[in-house]
Amino acid sequence: MTRSISILGATGSIGDSTLDLIRGERGKWRVVALTANCAAKKLAELAREFGAEVAVVGDESSLEELREYLSGTGIEAAGGAQALCEAASRPADITVAAIVGCAGLAPTMAAIEQGNTVALANKEALVSAGEVMTAKVAQHGTTLLPVDSEHNAIFQCLQGNAVEDVRWITLTASGGPLRTKSYAELDATTPAQAVAHPNWDMGAKISVDSATMMNKGLEFIEAHHLFPVGLDRLRIVVHPQSVIHSMVEYRDGSTLAQLGPSDMRVPIASALAHPARMDTNCKPLDLTEIGELSFFAPDEERFPATRLAREAAHAGGAAPAVLNAANEVAVAAFLAGQVKFTQISAITARTLDNYAPDAPQTLDAVLAVDAEARTRAMHMLEPA
Ligand code: NDP
Repeated sequence: MTRSISILGATGSIGDSTLDLIRGERGKWRVVALTANCAAKKLAELAREFGAEVAVVGDESSLEELREYLSGTGIEAAGGAQALCEAASRPADITVAAIVGCAGLAPTMAAIEQGNTVALANKEALVSAGEVMTAKVAQHGTTLLPVDSEHNAIFQCLQGNAVEDVRWITLTASGGPLRTKSYAELDATTPAQAVAHPNWDMGAKISVDSATMMNKGLEFIEAHHLFPVGLDRLRIVVHPQSVIHSMVEYRDGSTLAQLGPSDMRVPIASALAHPARMDTNCKPLDLTEIGELSFFAPDEERFPATRLAREAAHAGGAAPAVLNAANEVAVAAFLAGQVKFTQISAITARTLDNYAPDAPQTLDAVLAVDAEARTRAMHMLEPA
C-alpha cells in the first residue's frame, strides 16, 4: 500500500536522511510537498527525483530560481511563509517537520491542524509553543511521533507501559566536541571547532547547540511536553559514546534503554514505519567494537545552557520561547563570527533576565514573543 509523505526542511540533514529511507522503498511512498528556505536547486532536484506534487521555498526571492529549475515538470512551485503553511496543510499520511528553528513553527502547526501524523524533528517549535502546540495536537487528534533520537528512544521505551509507573526519564547527551575543554578554551572556540561533532553529522545550528549543551536543554523542555511525567523526573546524563539514546526507569527498578548507531535514519525509520519496523542500511551496532560505555554528570559551570533551559522549563509560560529565540540569535551571531562561543549562553541568560512577558495562548502570541526576544537579543550582540 502506498503512503503519502511531506517533508518540511527537505534540503537539510534530517531531510537528507528521510529521503534516503524513502529512496530505499520508492514504490511504497508518494511525495506530496518538499520544502526548503533558499536551496532552490537542491529542492528542485529532489522534487524531480521523487515526483513531488509541490516544492516550496520559504525565501520568496528564491521562487523565480525554483520555477526555472522545475519548468516543464508539472510540479507546482511556490514561495513565502504562507506557501509553506499551505503546503504543510495538504493531506499526507505523515509529515516530517524538519525545518530548523522557530521558522518551522507555523508550518508544523498547519500540519498538526490538518490532522496529519507529524514526525517531529523541529524541537525549537515545540520548545517555543509548548502548551499551545500540545493543545492543538489534542484538539485535532494528531499523532505526534518524536524523531529526535533521545525522544524517539524514550517513546520506544515507554511502549506498553504506564507513564504513572515512570520513576525517571534520563536523556543522554554526548557532551559535544568541547566536552573536555577548559573555560579559556571554550572562550576561544571557532565555529569550525564547535560544529565538528564527534558522533553525529548534523546541520550547523544543532551542532553548535550540542557544543554549548543547549541542545540538551531544548530536549529537556521537549521531553517535558512529549512525556508528561513532571519536570522533577527528567534528568540529563553525559554519555560520550552516544550508544544509549535515552532511558526510562520504572518504579520496580527496571530501566529500559534504546541503543543504536549514531545515525538519524534509525529514529526517522522508527517514526516512518510506526507502529511497524522498516529496513535501514545503517551500520549495525557492534558492542564489542565500542567496548565501554561511560556516564558523567553534566558540568553546568562550563556549560550553563542546561541550567538555563531547566529554569525556563520550571518558569513555564513564555520563558522557553524567549530562551529559544535568544539562543537562535546568539548561535547565528557566533556562526557569523560576531560573538564568542561563551557569549551564546550569556546573551540567552541576559535576554531571559530582561524580558518576561505573559504566557502566550495562541500561535500568533508565541510568534510575537519570539520576535520581541530576538530584537532584544540582537541588541546584546557585542563584537567578538
Ligand atoms: P539543517 O540546517 O541541515 O536543515 C534545515 C532545513 O530547514 C533546510 O531544509 C533549510 O532550507 C530549512 N530552513 C532553514 N531556515 C528556514 C526558514 N527560515 N524557512 C523555511 N525553511 C528553512 O538542519 P537539520 O536537518 O540539522 O535540523 C532540522 C531540525 O531537526 C532542527 O530543529 C534540529 O534541531 C532537528 N534535529 C536535527 C538532527 C540532526 O541530526 N540533524 C537530530 C535531531 C533533531 P535551506 O536548505 O534552503 O537552507
